[in-house]
Amino acid sequence: MNIILLGPPGAGKGTQAKFIVDNFGMLQLSTGDMLREAKNSGSEIGKVVSEVMQRGDLVTDDIVIDLISSKIDTSSNHTGFIFDGFPRTLNQADALSKLLSIKNKPINYVIELRVNDDVLIERIIGRYSCNKCGEVYHEKNNPTKIPLICDVCGEKDNFMKRPDDNENSLKTRLMSYYKDTSPLIGYYHVKKLLKTINALDEINNVYRNIETILKSWYL
Ligand code: ADP
Ligand code: AMP
Repeated sequence: MNIILLGPPGAGKGTQAKFIVDNFGMLQLSTGDMLREAKNSGSEIGKVVSEVMQRGDLVTDDIVIDLISSKIDTSSNHTGFIFDGFPRTLNQADALSKLLSIKNKPINYVIELRVNDDVLIERIIGRYSCNKCGEVYHEKNNPTKIPLICDVCGEKDNFMKRPDDNENSLKTRLMSYYKDTSPLIGYYHVKKLLKTINALDEINNVYRNIETILKSWYL
């Protein structure tokens, strides 16, 4: 099964992707994570995208399509893919559909995480993650169980905030979402793949709704 998680920055795509990975064994492909890795490794692509990401603009289609294409090529031993933060433009959506049809692996569901804009700033400003394993938390909504210790890897007092998680960058990212990404809602609705979920609900309830959709695939 291959799915796309669609939603604005802070909707909860990464958080829900982790639950899906744990329960369904699919592979999470986050273009944001791949680009941050490229940036941290100091690669040529990393240098090109660094400033763009900091501002909150979209990286060019060619760069992200190449990244996704090579990941798909090198990851065949999984029960499917969770596309998180990709596609973000109609051009990327068409490219993904071509890449997958070559491999005979269709998209089964596009899950739109719907939220109101006013919760996004609070979610983005409160987001932090473990510097060692990358687990994502929220200062108020989803903190570590023991203060300053990562629930997943046990790392102590080693957390970070994303440099683009600020009010200015969020404004730009939201603008890109409405201008370039939200047309994908209509695109996948017409393809009869769209499932819309209320992502204002608490994390576990959002997951339960996603799980119901994914389980229906096996019926
Ligand atoms: P995205 O990947 O869509 O940008 P994240 O999954 O990183 O979003 O979530 C953004 C922030 O909001 C994180 O700090 C996360 O812990 C928190 N969060 C995620 N889902 C919810 C939710 N349903 N309710 C409250 N906070 C949430
Ligand atoms: P994310 O981790 O999904 O919030 O993405 C962080 C940043 O990476 C975005 O603000 C963009 O600058 C860039 N990015 C991630 N995915 C894409 C994509 N599919 N297309 C273009 N830019 C992307």
